[in-house]
Amino acid sequence: MAAGGEKIDYVFKVVLIGDSAVGKSQILARFAHNEFSLDSKATIGVEFQTRTLVIQHKSVKAQIWDTAGQERYRAVTSAYYRGAVGALLVYDITKSQSFDHIPRWLEELRSHADKNIVIMLVGNKTDLEDQRAVTTEDASELAQKENLSFLETSALEATNVETAFQTVLTEIFNIVN
Ligand code: GDP
Ligand code: MG
Repeated sequence: MAAGGEKIDYVFKVVLIGDSAVGKSQILARFAHNEFSLDSKATIGVEFQTRTLVIQHKSVKAQIWDTAGQERYRAVTSAYYRGAVGALLVYDITKSQSFDHIPRWLEELRSHADKNIVIMLVGNKTDLEDQRAVTTEDASELAQKENLSFLETSALEATNVETAFQTVLTEIFNIVN
């Protein structure tokens, strides 16, 4: 977090989307506060968290929006997407349905968000490898086809969460610079 009065060079809005229970709120808790909870409540109310980081000597405030339990198809409002320059599109590697819904989320993102939005596909819960239902290859193939970055994460073990945000924010940074 930048100290009070410190100058912010950029504010980037990034949205988290994907089915309910894939781990969006825990990914955000990990990134924003380095916290994790196994019994996280379904998110209530529109919410965002911020974290300021330095990219190429500039101070970038990431404003990360988390869905407020409106993950039903088409229930996320356009206000949620307004002004977003990045998106983490999250599925659960142990729930194939959450992966099967990715094309729907992409369609929704592409109809509501800016056409230049930077999107990363995120397969969460890699700590549950023994329950894996979505192969890395299948996800990687979809990402390639849809022109998305792709990473697998574990919010629980703090694997790749930092890298996922860093990658998206750096990609955005490089577009605006
Ligand atoms: P959301 O509905 O997408 O926001 O999902 P939550 O962040 O609320 O997480 C749903 C459930 O999955 C909660 O019980 C979390 O503790 C759990 N969870 C989230 N991320 C992980 C992870 O990386 N590994 C494991 N094992 N559980 C996770
Ligand atoms: Mg949530």
